[in-house]
Amino acid sequence: MPEKNQLFEAEIEDITSEGNGVCHLDGMAVFVPDTAVGDKVKVRLVKVLKNYSYGIIEQMLSPSPDRIANDCPVYKKCGGCVFRHISYKAECRIKAGIVENAFKRLGGICTSYDTFISAENTTEYRNKAQYPVAELDGKAVCGFFAPRSHRIVPVTDCALQPEIFSEILETVTAFLNDKHIKAYDEKSHTGIVRHIYLRQGAHSGEIMVCIVARKDISRQLSPLAKILTGRFFGIQSIIMNINPDKTNVILGKKCITIWGKDTITDVMCGNIVEISPLSFYQVNTVQAERLYAKALEYAAPDKDNVIADLYCGAGTIGLSMARNVKKIIGVEIIPEAVENAKKNAQMNGISNAEFYAGDAGIIFAQLRQEGCSPDIIVVDPPRKGCSEETLSQIIEAAPEKVVMISCNPSTAARDAKILSQNGYTVDKVCGADLFPRTRHVECVVLMSRQKS
Ligand code: SAH
Repeated sequence: MPEKNQLFEAEIEDITSEGNGVCHLDGMAVFVPDTAVGDKVKVRLVKVLKNYSYGIIEQMLSPSPDRIANDCPVYKKCGGCVFRHISYKAECRIKAGIVENAFKRLGGICTSYDTFISAENTTEYRNKAQYPVAELDGKAVCGFFAPRSHRIVPVTDCALQPEIFSEILETVTAFLNDKHIKAYDEKSHTGIVRHIYLRQGAHSGEIMVCIVARKDISRQLSPLAKILTGRFFGIQSIIMNINPDKTNVILGKKCITIWGKDTITDVMCGNIVEISPLSFYQVNTVQAERLYAKALEYAAPDKDNVIADLYCGAGTIGLSMARNVKKIIGVEIIPEAVENAKKNAQMNGISNAEFYAGDAGIIFAQLRQEGCSPDIIVVDPPRKGCSEETLSQIIEAAPEKVVMISCNPSTAARDAKILSQNGYTVDKVCGADLFPRTRHVECVVLMSRQKS
């Protein structure tokens, strides 16, 4: 039995979806952070469990050719990136492997994997950033939470965000300190400003600045509008979001527009889209467009097809398919996102799309009772995957094809397996990188109904 502090030499064989390297000691998996596939290392065991262990590098014997120099001062401190120490090519190889393994683990439900959709741009690709604000030495600072903690690492210039975000952040925090507006303190539930939340349309350049606070301070914030709009080109909307709750959910339900528009607009798959502060909008627009193009290729709809777009957000996927089909029916739980979706359809002259607010499974069941029978169902659920109700409704609706988009290959594989046991074959799986340098990876799955 291995023991804590035991030393051994090994070669890193793989990387897990959390970004840890994997090697073996007498057949037992040992997870070692900050390693790369091909590293030859002397490892010290730091935690020994029944079926696996954790180790750290005691000595680097020979580094992997995948390694590159890390260029970020807060790498591994901020909780964002996990792959900055290896080449992007190696990262894509690992991510493609994570997607394939998720499906292979479930007993060969798929044998056909498409070429992984890697990103051309691995910096400044995010169109959204949410920075927690905290008090440090009597001043408001913003940054990121350290991994698995609520300790703030002050940092404003993150390589994944547009450069202008850090300049805006500095302006906002300087304003807060100047006006003695206190940062929120989670533990005591005192103080005011919780987060600074920024969005920028990747194609339009329009910027939304949203200040999340415990209570309404819109009057105190109003001079900020003049400062921000005088200094930065592109700001179209300044919002205050009120979140009075003791929670780690970032946004509250209420938004007050301090200056400009209530929303910003961007272009996605050729459609103008309106984005409100509360709506989900893919953070990497360019890669999302490539992912949605793959979903359309998989759906391959006919002109007379009806497509249900479940978990549709602001409708971006369905609207990107609307011109190729007879009708789109979108379902989404956030009412503001549904309003955005309807407006997005209207703005783009799309009259064959309907959107409904509510739980995907429940609303789709009601729509089916009213006679809705889609030929193709597209689902794009959150990380936890589709609900049981949604899956059973899909099985009962028996569409010709199901196209599943997911930000979590494990739950996508789990849900695909359930469909594969209920009349569907998993034809193709494609991984896509919407979050370069982080551990996240997206996938799209094509399933078709077996001919009886
Ligand atoms: N397809 C959209 C959004 C995908 S993210 C896009 O690509 O932009 C997942 C979406 O599912 C979010 O908009 C979230 O609000 C929504 N959602 C979460 N739980 C839901 C549920 N139970 N029913 C319907 N929608 C849900």
